[in-house]
Parts: sequence; C-alpha cells; structure tokens
Amino acid sequence: MTYRDAELGVVTVTVNPRARSIIMRPEVDGLRVTAFWGASLAFVRSTIDKFRPSLLAKQTDLKARPQLTTEDVEKMRREAKAHLPRRVDELAHMYGFHYAGLTIRDAKTRWGSCSSRNTISLSLYLMQVPEHLQDYVILHELCHTVHHDHSPRFWALMDTVTDGKAHALRTELHNYHTA
Ligand SMILES: [Zn+2]
Repeated sequence: MTYRDAELGVVTVTVNPRARSIIMRPEVDGLRVTAFWGASLAFVRSTIDKFRPSLLAKQTDLKARPQLTTEDVEKMRREAKAHLPRRVDELAHMYGFHYAGLTIRDAKTRWGSCSSRNTISLSLYLMQVPEHLQDYVILHELCHTVHHDHSPRFWALMDTVTDGKAHALRTELHNYHTA
C-alpha cells in the first residue's frame, strides 16, 4: 500500500513475511518500507515517526547527490561486465569457492545476492565503490555458496577470507549507495 506523508513524500509499504523488523529505505521523493507480517499501519507510522529526523536527513543527502544519467548507467554496465566476472572467478579460485553462474544487474536495493542454486547476482553500481569493497561484496556472495544465511558460521568464514575484517568492511560499505 502507499500513502502520502507531508514531509517524506510517497510512502510505499510492503509486507515481507521474513522481515523481522520495520525496514525503511529513504528515496529522493519518498520512502520504501518493508514491514513484517502482522505489523499494523499504526505501528509502521509510529516507527517512521521515531526515525523521522534521520530519514529526512538521508533524503536531503540523496537530493544533494548528482543523479546518474542513462549514459552513466550504461557506461557502468559495460565496465561491470568487463571487470566483475573476472574478479569473481579470481576470488573463487583463490579461496576454493564454487558458484553456478553470475549475472550483473541494475540492482538498486542491494549490492549482490546469491540464490539457493549458487547463482550470484551483482549490482552494476558496484563500479562506484573502491575495489577492496567490491571484493568484500563478491566474497560475501561467494561465502553464501557455503552458508546461505548470515549465521555466525557465515561470518566466521567471511573473516577467514577477509583477514578478520568482515565487519569493518561491511561498516565501510555503508558509506556508499547503489544509485
Ligand atoms: Zn548476505
């Protein structure tokens, strides 16, 4: 469902039965909210109100960022297709991971994902982050070919392939945005 918020713009609420909390993603002209199953609209609204100042600050931040043109995105797509498959292959060989395939997408909500069949997807917007963080995302998805979750075992494996820096790299990646 969607509704209009006087300050935040169009608020789009979707329900994800797997969500454990209310997830809010500010966009330039609105807010995307993922709610857990059974969350009332009143609860969603009060959660938004609780985080309103930081949500508005993030929107201001987004508005200040230069918007990518179609040409920018196409250029990035070409770069991503030239670079990422090779790097995924290299890192998989280096650490002995096996993946079924790789797709590069215009994904704006996540840097990467790994399917239950071990097909990895990477966002072409990865071309906007430094290489050591591209590697972090690639290794994260490769570790998912072994552990399809974010369990302690997953993070332990991440630490072995990142020299114990998995959490630090994750925090650093939070400074970047897809598009
Ligand atoms: Zn993950």
